[in-house]
Amino acid sequence: MSRYFSQKYAALTPYTPGEQPTDMKYVKLNTNESPFPPSEKAIAAADAEARRLQLYSDPTSGALHKKLAETLGLEPDEVLVTNGSDEILNFAFMAFCDEKTPAAFADITYGFYPVFAELNNIPYTEIPLREDFTLAPEDYFGLGKTIFIANPNAPTGLALSRADIERILRANPDHVVVIDEAYVDFGGESCIPLIRQYDNLLVTQTFSKSRSMAGARVGFGAGCRELIRDLNTIKYSTNPYNVNRMSQAAAIGVLSDEDYTRANCQTVIENRAYTTAELEKRGFSVLDSRANFIFATHPAIAGKKLYEDLKARGVLIRHFEKPRLSPYNRITIGSKEQMDILLQKIDEIMEENV
Ligand SMILES: *Cc1c(COP(=O)(O)O)cnc(C)c1O
Repeated sequence: MSRYFSQKYAALTPYTPGEQPTDMKYVKLNTNESPFPPSEKAIAAADAEARRLQLYSDPTSGALHKKLAETLGLEPDEVLVTNGSDEILNFAFMAFCDEKTPAAFADITYGFYPVFAELNNIPYTEIPLREDFTLAPEDYFGLGKTIFIANPNAPTGLALSRADIERILRANPDHVVVIDEAYVDFGGESCIPLIRQYDNLLVTQTFSKSRSMAGARVGFGAGCRELIRDLNTIKYSTNPYNVNRMSQAAAIGVLSDEDYTRANCQTVIENRAYTTAELEKRGFSVLDSRANFIFATHPAIAGKKLYEDLKARGVLIRHFEKPRLSPYNRITIGSKEQMDILLQKIDEIMEENV
């Protein structure tokens, strides 16, 4: 820390992204990226747009808003596209929380929520999940706080039904409820159809996972016009050109290739069922995931040891040190070939350890 760093941030612990190593070629199952390349339509559109990079991007992301709204059955002013969904989540913390309106989220969920709260000086409460990692909707009734729920949750993969989210929305009519649907395309139930019914609902999604565009940094929020207007006030006060030209073009491209996205999600869902069954055969417990990753533990090998042994064999998965999480690992679902390498390396490791 330099002697110039503001006191405001002196105690801030930043978010730790999953490793992106460059030292060797890993089978990378640690950051929930897609194993599939971007849509050819996205690639062609971004490529053409590269020739116009001397010009600022459209600050309204107008064409993308139109295409996205069409895809979702909404109006363009009911959505806001951002630089990854991390940006809209940060905007939501800035716009809808303060000293008097703290934030609330689960004790086990996306690790960025407490960082956003601390960055923006927002008090927050972490609400413990049940012993089996499920979220009890009742724990969120009448909280008097702005609520953030990842659905499906990370790193567990467990999902709440839309009906359960509705109970939480109804029980908090005077507070915003943010539903982070980063993984919804892999078997979750989206709450976007509810945004016209609940003016306190903001749904966020991302192009990073199901649409194979993590490197493009495109995410969005969907909510009633007033919420979106507030978020735009924050956007135009921080970074008006928040989505670059190539990413806007690529996002429009992938939205005109919905069959490709759907087919890829279906493959991930099939590979998830395959990997879950194979791990269970080997004595693992695997939570019932609706995401493009699974959360698994084995009674005979510590989570950290499995992570380290797999890394030494060229397979990267994600381990979390938090006490309740440390027996587990989060494993991204990749291609069938990648899953078979994972299983083969696990067999080698288990053989050595028994
Ligand atoms: C990956 C992820 C995000 C954000 O991803 P972006 O790449 O910033 O769009 C948000 N929430 C959860 C739960 C995630 O796992």
